[in-house]
Amino acid sequence: MQEKGTISIHTENIFPIIKKFLYSDHEIFLRELVSNAVDATQKVKRLASLGEYTGDLGETRVEVSVNKKKKTITISDAGIGMTAEEIKKYINQIAFSGATEFVEKFKDAGDAKEIIGKFGLGFYSAFMVAGKVEIDSLSYQEGAAPAKWICDGSTEFEITEGKRKTRGTTITLHVNDDSEEFLEDFRIQQILDKYAKFLPIEVKFGEKDEQVEDGTDKEGKPKYKTVKKDNIINNTDPIWTKSPADLTDEDYLNFYKELYPFSEDPLFWIHLNVDYPFELTGILYFPKLKNDFEMQKNKIQLYSRQVFITDEVKDVVPEFLMLLHGIIDSPDIPLNVSRSYLQSDGNVKKINSYITKKVADKLGELFKKERESYESKWDDIGLFVKYGMISEEKFYDKAKDFALVKNVDGKCFTIEEYEKHIEANQTDKDKNKIWLYASNPAKQDSFISAAKDKGYDVLVLDSPIDSHFVNHMEQQLKTTQVKRVDADNLNKLIDKDEKPELVLNDEQKESLKGVFEKAIDSKTYTVNVDGLSPNDAPVTVTMPEFMRRMKEMQATGGGG
Ligand code: ADP
Ligand code: MG
Repeated sequence: MQEKGTISIHTENIFPIIKKFLYSDHEIFLRELVSNAVDATQKVKRLASLGEYTGDLGETRVEVSVNKKKKTITISDAGIGMTAEEIKKYINQIAFSGATEFVEKFKDAGDAKEIIGKFGLGFYSAFMVAGKVEIDSLSYQEGAAPAKWICDGSTEFEITEGKRKTRGTTITLHVNDDSEEFLEDFRIQQILDKYAKFLPIEVKFGEKDEQVEDGTDKEGKPKYKTVKKDNIINNTDPIWTKSPADLTDEDYLNFYKELYPFSEDPLFWIHLNVDYPFELTGILYFPKLKNDFEMQKNKIQLYSRQVFITDEVKDVVPEFLMLLHGIIDSPDIPLNVSRSYLQSDGNVKKINSYITKKVADKLGELFKKERESYESKWDDIGLFVKYGMISEEKFYDKAKDFALVKNVDGKCFTIEEYEKHIEANQTDKDKNKIWLYASNPAKQDSFISAAKDKGYDVLVLDSPIDSHFVNHMEQQLKTTQVKRVDADNLNKLIDKDEKPELVLNDEQKESLKGVFEKAIDSKTYTVNVDGLSPNDAPVTVTMPEFMRRMKEMQATGGGG
């Protein structure tokens, strides 16, 4: 037996689910309704530019207002509006997106990138906070009649002739008792600041006080008075949407200040801009790092067509770049889906590797073109680069050419340069190169001097990431060993033909060694009283490198 058919949906059952679980955050309703208002406005502007609408565009602001007494929030626009027929088509059919339809219809007339909507679900988020929702709309079409739609959250609706006299739409939400927080001005301001800060159409929310100069007083000092000004939420023209060629360094620095008002200037930035195989724009800034890394994490903001989505960009941005700041704007990142889905999404993976590549290219370019300034920033950049080299093979392949190591005299080398630098005299008997490094130059000073006296070079690798970096470099370079300068006796490490002269005879050596061993009383350490020239430290106490790393791993909980 074979039967085919269509699955049917009982709206009265599915409706409560959509309302409750569409978004976990109820504040999202405002983002959705304001985005719809912006879309409607973009559409009418577009029709005007195509000559399909010849009326006067007039003021095209979106206005949000709250009436605490009536317990309503309204979102009003001067967009294309809807006829009664269109309301039935776009609003009553859940998951039918008029935005997608519009983009389809006009796709041959150039791009329609400015339209935000896509799923045809956003409008219903209004019911997360409102029991009753009204739409008052007047379509841009000539001779259209105004329409009014009312729905109390059940599957029934009512459509009547409306009273609206100007083009556009007003959505009125009758706010539920348990959502009264959204009737507070500061709360609405907060939500708009978060989601609407860079929307492309002006969003007005009430008025604000502003101090303006008002003549001078008797002493000739300027006087001020307070005036009411429209409270405009957004910068409609953020720089990431522009072409890098039209921007100056100052533009980038000012925008950084706009995003993070109390931060020091960033070190440099990368302007992202792709449209194939996915769309993505944005600016990533390399901040000056502070000791408190955790505080600096999660500063990248994710946008979709200038609408803020989240600052949880974990899956979109490679882990090692989480300390970067800035904006990523992509309509190709799926938004209304779960975390695990996001991780496995093809576009997200591509975006992730695109960002990795872009960052690597930028660093490579800075290194090549401005080596001196690059070196001066290395202390800040190094952390990203080392972390990236450890965690991403693709990044390692590029970064090995611009990663630097710095020696105790502050001289910087690339890996290749360093291998050449030490080639002549820092090898063991199997001709493996040995990088010597200090993890705490102040404390290891005597070991450093001893090494330098022998003509050896000593690197400084003293940040928390360096012990992992050291392990990684040994694996990558294969014939190189990386040893802490106090790890073992230098003469055992580095293969030297000539026997160093001794200042103590064997008997003296033994007794001195005994004294120290007694004092330290540990099998982990080795006391050396051999091979010393007079200006060396007379006694060194060392721990083999592998022992030390084991200890470190134990101390950090066994990770590595
Ligand atoms: P989406 O925005 O993803 O298309 P929504 O559920 O948010 O889905 O909205 C459904 C449709 O209703 C929109 O595509 C649009 O056609 C229409 N619509 C919603 N709000 C407005 C508005 N303010 N002005 C004109 N049309 C609107
Ligand atoms: Mg929408």
